[in-house]
This record gives sequence, C-alpha cells and structure tokens, in this order.
Amino acid sequence: MDRFADIQVLRYEVPAFEQLSLKQKCLVYYLQEAALWGRDILWDQNCKYNLPIRRMCEAVYTGYQGDKADPQWVAFEQYMKQIWFANGIHHHYSNAKFKPGFDQAWFEAELNKVEGKEALYAGYDFAEVERAIFDDNFLPIKVNQADGVDLIATSACNFYEGLTQQEVEDYYAKLKNPQDTMPVMFGLNSKLVKEDGKIVEKTWKVGGLYTEAIERIVENLNKAKEYAESDQQRKVIESLVTYYESGDLKDFDTYSIEWVKDLDSKVDFINGFIESYNDPLGMRGSWEGMVNFKDSANTARTEIVSANAQWFEDHSPIDDRFRKPVVKGVTAKVITAAILAGDSYPATPIGINLPNSNWIRAQHGSKSVSIDNITAAYDAAAAGNGFAEEFMWSEEEVEQAKKYAHYVDNIHTDLHECLGHGSGQLLPGVDPDALKAYGSTLEEARADIFALYYMADPKLVELGVMPDMEAYKAGYYQQMMNGLMTQLVRILPGDNLEEAHMRNRSLIAYWTLERAKMDEGQPALEFAKRDGKTYVKINDYKKLRQYFGELLGELQRIKSEGDFKAGRHLVETYGVKVNPELHAEVLERYQKLDIAPYKGFVNPRYEPVFNASTISDIVVKYGTENYVEQMLRYGRDYSALK
Ligand code: ZN
Repeated sequence: MDRFADIQVLRYEVPAFEQLSLKQKCLVYYLQEAALWGRDILWDQNCKYNLPIRRMCEAVYTGYQGDKADPQWVAFEQYMKQIWFANGIHHHYSNAKFKPGFDQAWFEAELNKVEGKEALYAGYDFAEVERAIFDDNFLPIKVNQADGVDLIATSACNFYEGLTQQEVEDYYAKLKNPQDTMPVMFGLNSKLVKEDGKIVEKTWKVGGLYTEAIERIVENLNKAKEYAESDQQRKVIESLVTYYESGDLKDFDTYSIEWVKDLDSKVDFINGFIESYNDPLGMRGSWEGMVNFKDSANTARTEIVSANAQWFEDHSPIDDRFRKPVVKGVTAKVITAAILAGDSYPATPIGINLPNSNWIRAQHGSKSVSIDNITAAYDAAAAGNGFAEEFMWSEEEVEQAKKYAHYVDNIHTDLHECLGHGSGQLLPGVDPDALKAYGSTLEEARADIFALYYMADPKLVELGVMPDMEAYKAGYYQQMMNGLMTQLVRILPGDNLEEAHMRNRSLIAYWTLERAKMDEGQPALEFAKRDGKTYVKINDYKKLRQYFGELLGELQRIKSEGDFKAGRHLVETYGVKVNPELHAEVLERYQKLDIAPYKGFVNPRYEPVFNASTISDIVVKYGTENYVEQMLRYGRDYSALK
C-alpha cells in the first residue's frame, strides 16, 4: 500500500462482519456514518488553519495538470499525504510542523489556477494561512510540553485563544471544588477564549462551535438508534445525543455511565471528545470515533484476566493506602474495529480504556478493549522486516520474540488496559489533575509498569493466559529495547521526546537502567557494544521484575498523593532527553532496513444494499479505493465545517 515520508498505510480486515445480523449491520452502518462526520472537528482542533489548508491543497492536488516528475509536485504530493495522515499540518506523533519541500511561489501559482479559490479560505487571513504552511517559526509545534515555558502560548492546537497558561489554570482552579466527589471533566468539550477582557468557554455542541458537524453526527446517531440491540444501548445513544445537544458535561457523565453499563451488546462505539493528549494542559478532548463489535473467541482470554482483578490489586507492590479495597467493574473484551475516525484515523491505538473520568471509573467501572484485527494487521506488516535481527542482542532474543511476541503483546495490552489504568486509588482530597502536563505520561507509565510487573507473575501461567515462565522475557526485552533505543526511530535528530507514550517508555527503561547500576555485580540491564553497534542486554530477568515492582510502587505513590514535583522529576530525568549519538546510530541502522516507523490504515467502505426502499444488506468493501481516494472522498463527502 501507500508508503511516503515516515508512513506506511495498511489495510485492515473486518472478520466476521458478514456474520452479524442485518440489524447489527445497519447499526454499524449508521454509527460509522456518525463517526466519519466528526473528521473536520479534529482537523480544526489540531490547528485553526488546518481546514483552509486542506481545502487549498486538495484543490491544487486534484486540479494539477503539470508534470508529475517536477520536484515541486513530488514534494507537494508528499506534503498532501502527510497532512492527511496527521489530520493537519503537525506530525501526529512528534507534534512538529511539517516542512513543505515545495516553494511558496509554486504553490501560489498553482492555487491561482483554481477557480473560486477564495472560497477555500473564506473567513481566514490568507497571509496567516500561508505562514502556517511556509513559516517554520510560526506554530512550530502542536502540543508543547517543554518545561518552564507558557504551554498555551507555545502550542499550535486550537483550544485556547488570547490566554496565558496562568489565566487558564486560575480559571479552572476557581471552578474546581475539591469537595466535589463527582466532578465533571472541566474543559473537555469547549474552546476557552478571551473576548473583551472576559474569559468565555465556547462549547462544542449543537448550536455552538462545530454545530454543522455535530448536527450530522446526531442525525446519524438517531438513525442508528432505530437498530439498537437493547434498551440499554438505545439509552446510550440517546444520552450521547442529549449531551451533544446540551453541551453539559454532566450529561456527558450520564452518557459515560450508561455506556459503561452496556456490556451485553455485540456492537459498541466511541463517538465524542475523549482523549486529552492534544491539549498541553490535558483537559480538552480531541474528537474521536470508532465502531466495533465483539470478537468472542479472543475475549475469553481477557475475561480470565479481569475476573482476577482483585487478586492483582491485592498483590500489587504498592502502599496499602493506595490500594483499591474493591476493584469494580473491570471488563475486558477483544474487539474487531469496523471503522476508525477522528483522532483514531488513520493512525490508531491498539487498545482502549474508557471512560477517563476518575470517579466514574471508581464507582461504575470502565470498559477496556484490545483491537485484534488492527494488531493482526500490524503483525502481518512487521513479519520478516529484519528489525529484530538488526537490533536484538543475540539469536536467543530473536527466537524468543518469534515464539512469544504476538502473545506477550496481547497480554501486555490486556494487563495495561484491563487492570493497569484501573488499579490504585487517589488519597482523599487529591486533585486528579495535580500532575498537570505530566499526568498523561505518568499514567501511561503506571499502566505499562503494572503490565510489565505482572507479565512475569506465575499467576498468569496458573490462569492459563501465559504459556510458561519464559514468555514474559520476550516482553521485557522488547520493552527495554524499545524504551532505551529503538523508539528513537520515530523522532528526528535534535528532537526531544514529546508524546506521552514515548515518554513513558523512555521513563521506565532509563529509570530501570539507572536502578540496575545501583546494585553490585553485573547489572541486570545494560547497554552492550558489538562490532561498533549498541545493543540492549538483559542479564537478569528476575531482578528486572523486582525493579519494575519498585517503580510501580513509586508511580502509584506519585499518582495517589498528587506529587507533582516527584512526577516532574521522573519525567524530566528519564522521559524527555535523547542521547544524540545513540539516536544517530539507531537512525542509521534503521534507515538501512527501510521500514516506515509509523503505520496507519485505510478504512473499509460500507455500502447498503436496497430492496425497494428498505435495506436488505450492508456489504463491506476493502479494495475499492486507495489512501488518496479515501482521503479525497472523506474531504468531499464528510466535510461539514466552513
Ligand atoms: Zn494507556
């Protein structure tokens, strides 16, 4: 499939869609329509110039009559594909703005050939839009998490206007009531702006910001409702519509609770302002959509893990005060993704754990899923690409990975999503946002270290979810190699680690490396050299597990106590900086393998088959369009915002 810059675009299949009932298929169909209609929202959230830039670029792209070997065109085509993939002009993972390889003069000349070009950027200052494309110093980074600067002023995301970070923090500090045991997630569904000296929340809702897109989402949710599998599922959809109409975050909580309760439906979905990684202050939710249905065979495995949630909580190496006396409602399932949309498209997570509200999770539980058809597509693409042979210390690790990697990957995801995020509790009175900009990284680290610690527990073998006491070693090696070295292929020379998951992996691996040096004798984990190349070497897997237990205890303490200083210290010391020599070496070795570090997906297409005026079937089609065709179709058919 399509390969450009650092991206490879794959396809995924939707096994067993044909086995759904007609009613379930219709439900999937309207839910995926509702998902696709949110695309423009995410584009606008990512940066305020993204939509006019996309429209201008698409007009130039589709109208181009010139020589396709012209280096200007070649560079422009790459830029077009990059911004499609990133849902905007900043890299989806590194957050850095793309550098266009074509000239401004060339672009303007091509744009001038477009009839009615003014309509493409109506309502925007054309000079500013062009600066957003061509001026490297203008809006250089989407989400800035650098220490010691104003994160609002230095981030390009479109969540705040005319405000300093201090003003935003003061505004929400006043709204938050520490006594409130059921606080809404402040700021989740609005843009915060200063108008005439006054701070105003502009809510994303029907009749508010993004109303044109949200109305189409609601229209399709209402159609989907007709095909709901149960009264509970109908309630879920209705409460989501209520929330989209009111914009009231209490309504969002109501919806989230109904959604958590709906465990029996085969079909499920996410649709809304969910994850806050794209806000430097971690409050505002990026629009995201996904429709899925349960993969019953694979779900049996995760059900065993979650049925034993209390055992894991009780045996976790954390202070008793931070332990949940009763772990509630940890449900786990394996799903088949039917459509990816918004912030889950084209790059997508392989696991989901929602809702994010702490008190809802504590009182009502959460739903945790891993997405098997996506993982399978990744694994198929990775098989035999030479990566393991290049970076692993010896034949032993390579063989271990071949034998166990897909297996431990799945277990890692189960433990991270089903148990990790849901474990532990805050001490009374601790602000859930106390860790501020470090919160996302530390939370991911906590869930990951939980998974790593338990991956090596004989309990998993006893439960039959791990085959033997060797398998976890493949997971440990993989995680240390990735965190210490190989994830660096995802960033450019000179860059720091910015993304929460990358920071978390680095934090865990480098903390462990340092910890290993403190014990006498050969360290359990070290860098080793051979033929001038650097490798990660694990000398003592059992000791490694002991260190992971220590780090889990500390990460839980930081979260439970809201210890911002200790959290910042961990992230800044182990999770941000990159050793430039090692980075250069890794990049050089990786380039020789010619593998794209980022992957994403083209969606399948769902088409209703009509018998007179009623739907007699929904068919899923895979090969009917490529990446470019899909992006152009989405831009044409699902663009609601002006
Ligand atoms: Zn996570």
